[in-house]
Amino acid sequence: MSKKQKWEYSPALEGTDHIQLKKQYDLFINGKFTPGAEGKYFSTVNPANEEKIAEVAEANQKDINFAVESAQKAYDNTWSKMPGKERGKYIFRIARLLQERAREFSVIETIDGGKPIRESRDVDIPLASAHFFYYAGWADKLEYAFPGKQANSLGVTGQIIPWNFPLLMASWKIAPALATGNTVVLKPAETTPLTAMKLAEIIQEADLPPGVVNIVTGAGDTGKAIVNHPDIKKIAFTGSTEVGKYIMKSIAGTDKKYTLELGGKAANIIFEDASIDQAVEGIINSIFFNQGHVCCAGSRLYVQESVAEEVIQKLRNRMSSLIVGNPLDKNTDIGAINSKMQLDKIKMYVDLGKEEGGNIYQPSCSLPKKGFWHAPTIFTDVSQSNRIIQEEIFGPVLGIQTFRTVDEVIAKANNTAYGLSGGVWTDKGSKIFKVTKDIRAGVIWANTFNKFDPASPFGGYKESGVGSEGGIEGLRGYLDLA
Ligand code: NAP
Ligand code: MG
Repeated sequence: MSKKQKWEYSPALEGTDHIQLKKQYDLFINGKFTPGAEGKYFSTVNPANEEKIAEVAEANQKDINFAVESAQKAYDNTWSKMPGKERGKYIFRIARLLQERAREFSVIETIDGGKPIRESRDVDIPLASAHFFYYAGWADKLEYAFPGKQANSLGVTGQIIPWNFPLLMASWKIAPALATGNTVVLKPAETTPLTAMKLAEIIQEADLPPGVVNIVTGAGDTGKAIVNHPDIKKIAFTGSTEVGKYIMKSIAGTDKKYTLELGGKAANIIFEDASIDQAVEGIINSIFFNQGHVCCAGSRLYVQESVAEEVIQKLRNRMSSLIVGNPLDKNTDIGAINSKMQLDKIKMYVDLGKEEGGNIYQPSCSLPKKGFWHAPTIFTDVSQSNRIIQEEIFGPVLGIQTFRTVDEVIAKANNTAYGLSGGVWTDKGSKIFKVTKDIRAGVIWANTFNKFDPASPFGGYKESGVGSEGGIEGLRGYLDLA
């Protein structure tokens, strides 16, 4: 907690006595929890205190073969033949069960991944259940989604997700796949497998036919086995651009469909006519909450020169009141960094920023001794060619530059390999239209940031990805439209 803070909140810890976690999780294949073929397990730890939470099975090639076989049988025998209306009922059931157990899921998401409970409770879990509700509604209406076309399902889909929004990413993948009549083999990230395994319990409780959804845990090699399996018809991947490129190369020349949701380096633009206090709060939200572990995080800030001094001062003031600490505390703004590996990567970039000549500011923070933590950090005096401005850091680190004209800031915002998201803060509608039209990014928020809705598609330009998830667009990637 910051020493400069004018007041301190008493701890407001979310209870953990209501959650049910097993010591060991097996793979969820063909409707049952089964040990992996090799009987190997790995630990998932709480990044806020480095304590082991549970052991999770490591799936190898044999396990993936079994999962794909089960998914294929389920596809051939039941799921692809079931009327959309019936499929929809199962998806609605998953949505409702998730909603009923939202509190338990929020706590597990927070202890497994390190994000503040406020975020898991108010964003991740409600949005995950909203995605199931939304796509459940489409299951029997595919003919209206794509008028004049026949919407044919594909078969078995392979889905691989990252650690920053574990349950939400699982729902972005599973819900549209089921609504469109496909079956699923999904792999959560190695560091955050628990809510996916809890979702497997819900899927069992919802009585989905065995094999329709299979959840297999493991690391990169397990992901590779999914990508390369010849019977998988579509790969849905969310993760880094590096792995996304690797996947694209692996499946080149096959008839697999794919959607890739990759990295980002969003520009947040503040014009001099913006409501400055509102903009500052938006900037803080866009890069520091959830530790900057957000693909669409506003990691580059462009401030119009005439208000730069004011904005930077206000940002510093607000940073000094941010609460870094126990993610289970409802007052916490910045939780734990997801893993030691990620923390090392962030530190590497912060050192690099200093070497590149950047001027660093961090509020005085006392970080917990155990666990993985990083103070909110801003860099000024940086330039467009600096690596910390060009590359995705995926942590609470913001690079700030100034600009004079609209055209200049559009050119700078577009000058990265990414094109996932962006933000614009201004009082003038005309500037909003100009900036949102000329910046090549999948989503640009105006006078707000990080707002999501299952009905609105999300996807990237350039090296931020291929295809979209969410909304009607999100159905398209799971269909063969004849
Ligand atoms: P990552 O390292 O690319 O991993 C993503 C997933 O792929 C994990 O499940 C990972 O397994 C698996 N994987 C690793 N190597 C693989 C391989 N060779 N073949 C198949 N699968 C493989 O990404 P991350 O560090 O977890 O996540 C952060 C990245 O995700 C950031 O770049 C962020 O921008 C991006 N992201 C994008 C979006 C979007 O919608 N565009 C949303 C969220 C995150 P293990 O982790 O278990 O090794
Ligand atoms: Mg963990």
